[in-house]
Amino acid sequence: MVGNVPVGGGAPITVQSMTTTKTADVEGTLQQIYALAAAGADIVRCTCNEIEAAEGLAQIVPRSPVPIVADIHHQYKMALAALDAGVHCLRLNPGNIRRAEHIKLVANEAKARGVPIRIGVNGGSLDPALYEKYGGRVTAEAMVESAQRELAYFEEVGFEDVKISVKASSVALMIQAYRMLADVTDYPLHLGVTEAGPTFAGLIKSSAGIGTLLAEGIGDTIRYSLTADPVEEARAGRTLLEALGLRERKNVDLIACPSCGRAEVDVIAIANQALEAFKDREIPLQIAVMGCVVNGPGEARDADLGIAAGNKRGHLFVKGQNVAVVPESEMVEALVDWAEFIMEHGVEAALARVDTTKAAREAQRDKARLLDAQGDDANDSGARIELIKKRVRE
Ligand code: SF4
Repeated sequence: MVGNVPVGGGAPITVQSMTTTKTADVEGTLQQIYALAAAGADIVRCTCNEIEAAEGLAQIVPRSPVPIVADIHHQYKMALAALDAGVHCLRLNPGNIRRAEHIKLVANEAKARGVPIRIGVNGGSLDPALYEKYGGRVTAEAMVESAQRELAYFEEVGFEDVKISVKASSVALMIQAYRMLADVTDYPLHLGVTEAGPTFAGLIKSSAGIGTLLAEGIGDTIRYSLTADPVEEARAGRTLLEALGLRERKNVDLIACPSCGRAEVDVIAIANQALEAFKDREIPLQIAVMGCVVNGPGEARDADLGIAAGNKRGHLFVKGQNVAVVPESEMVEALVDWAEFIMEHGVEAALARVDTTKAAREAQRDKARLLDAQGDDANDSGARIELIKKRVRE
């Protein structure tokens, strides 16, 4: 348990993030913790690098909406100070605090208070002795051995309230290290790609690493480490868990067609406008934005709600059934209205409140007009295939 949040033992996977404020800035840090919790963080870590930070933690912990983990850097005394501050968990980096007596002292104090510790091995700050042992390289074996050495110290003093991470900035390396670790230990694992980088690259690397492991059943709690506003980390963690079906959806699942020669509107713009409109609404529906009424409603028939463009109009459909037609300029607004109605009254009521036959007829009419104007090969695939055949014959 990290505070009141279970980690491991079959508990739901949790999302973590870390504040970027000075922990001594109590109000600023609390503000960020609240923003992180609202974006999906279940547990938040704060740095405890100096005595002022520990003093800050003493005021932050009782007012935080989520459990707080203190990140300890090089001084074991900061770990003791964080325990005095009442934190719910410690994170120790075995590469930074290396003296056995210090590690055991911290473990003993944590044990007395019932506070868990994360053994946070980091490829970038591996114990130099292990670095040497493995040929001057950071390897998965070296990271796993680092965690096991720390565990052995803990076990010597009978401390087992542990979770472990073996993060690396290389996705392939961290995957390998976590797989090895999962083979040799049953302790809960905290997953992450360290120093993943700015948003775009960081999201891809973290999702690849964390997602691969989660899909294999490895991992109990996750953190995206982005060079960005930490709210993005929390949001990304939550979205990944939702996408993998590991967390109940809280917000919209917006799907959209990639657009093609048939598209009747700027699908990218409309999809982004819709995403923005639903961002802060807690509407956990799957909503589709489709570029044309020719194929859109069929391709997105499983969505709870969707809209497809056709003949300067937006055709709304609920579970694949046409329900209404709106002007193109009101497509996003209409989606929001219908989504709110479905949330309040359900799909059946949404279908019952309109004449679906009339809406289907309208859609059929616009579809026919489009087919008339574009033909049934709007992407010119047929013409291209003819060209290819001709070239082969030559
Ligand atoms: S056919 Fe229509 S729905 Fe499918 S990708 Fe093209 S525009 Fe989008």
